[in-house]
Amino acid sequence: MTIMVSDILVEVCKKNIKNMHLSVKPPNGKVTVSAPLNMRDETIERFVRTKAGWIKRQVEKLVTQPRQSMREYLSGETLYVWGTQYFLRVEYGTGKNSLLLSGDKAVLTVREKSTVVQRARFVREWYRSILKKEIERVLPKWEDRTGLVCDAWQTKYMITRWGTCNIKKRKIWLNVQLAKKTPDCLEYVILHELVHLVEKHHNNAFISLMDKYMPYWRETKRALNDQILDFMA
Ligand SMILES: [Zn+2]
Repeated sequence: MTIMVSDILVEVCKKNIKNMHLSVKPPNGKVTVSAPLNMRDETIERFVRTKAGWIKRQVEKLVTQPRQSMREYLSGETLYVWGTQYFLRVEYGTGKNSLLLSGDKAVLTVREKSTVVQRARFVREWYRSILKKEIERVLPKWEDRTGLVCDAWQTKYMITRWGTCNIKKRKIWLNVQLAKKTPDCLEYVILHELVHLVEKHHNNAFISLMDKYMPYWRETKRALNDQILDFMA
């Protein structure tokens, strides 16, 4: 259900939850309200109206700020790992940097004087390391299932693509940011790039191979593109 409140388009999702929750999501500032199943629409509208000023400020920020400045690696920010949201807690240390997941917290230990760029680089390499581990497990599985085997693979931080394939070199690249998405997204992208080894274009032959090996690939693709893009410098 979508409602319009003070010029703001709001997507309402009724769920089995106790409290209302409002979110403004990147990249375009889509506004979503999650509300308990039995909550009346008037109550939801009133709630959104009281938050209209805040919503407009958030949307403004999202639309006008460059991506890099959105994340400062400070406590309270959120971070996604394999589709699960964690709240960042920054601690200061003098030894090696670390990032540990514990409950719903992601505890990032860095030097107090470290810059945003240094923190970003560390977190990115952390994502890369967990992604690599998962690729080592998942890629052979799909190579076995399909008989499509690549000669080499590499991870790469990309903004616009989840993966790419160099057919000549039989090499695939996988986006570091896949480590933020639910694990089925990685499976889908790996299969997609493997299929490119025998079919360059997204034509019927390509699609029928996808259908054969992963009948649910369309849903996964949709989920991948729907998931919040977690900005990272
Ligand atoms: Zn493709």
